[in-house]
Amino acid sequence: MRKIVARLQGENQELADSLNRLGSVKAKLVRGGIIAELPRFADTASYSFRIPDQLHYARFSIETTECGGGMTNTGHASIICSTIGEKVRPFYIPRGGHLANGDHAFFSMPMLVEVTGYRNIEGVEIFHFSIFKKSLGSAEIIMREIWSGDRESLPRKYNYFTEAVNAAYEKANCYHCRHVHYAEGR
Ligand SMILES: [Zn+2]
Repeated sequence: MRKIVARLQGENQELADSLNRLGSVKAKLVRGGIIAELPRFADTASYSFRIPDQLHYARFSIETTECGGGMTNTGHASIICSTIGEKVRPFYIPRGGHLANGDHAFFSMPMLVEVTGYRNIEGVEIFHFSIFKKSLGSAEIIMREIWSGDRESLPRKYNYFTEAVNAAYEKANCYHCRHVHYAEGR
């Protein structure tokens, strides 16, 4: 589940409370600031989010997860990397709960690449995600395909995604996966 989160400098409890009173925003204090989840416009198929007045000048990031894994005959999984295929550091790794083929690492970045692998068909998809601020009051997650196909035929010009592509494929083939396959420090 991709979403846009806003980060404001300063541990301002009053501001966090006023954001939470809007009902549509989930704001919490973190060290040095506030992190608030933007509400998604309900009536659109695209990933469009509303920016409340208090957050017009916040810093925005996309929040997403490494997730998925293999099942007996099928399965797919996604890993997250930088725009040049590097491992990045997750801000949260769940240790319990429903882990099998669930969410295994949470990332927050202004721009990122998601590589999805599919079991059996050896197919992979590489997508680039970024944030487009349409106006002061709204922002959208823009999704652009970089490449998709059989993982063995990844074009040479995308060599820098090889490790990420293999990780997505391995994760899609990892039966009832419960752990992180592609992240900094692992
Ligand atoms: Zn696994």
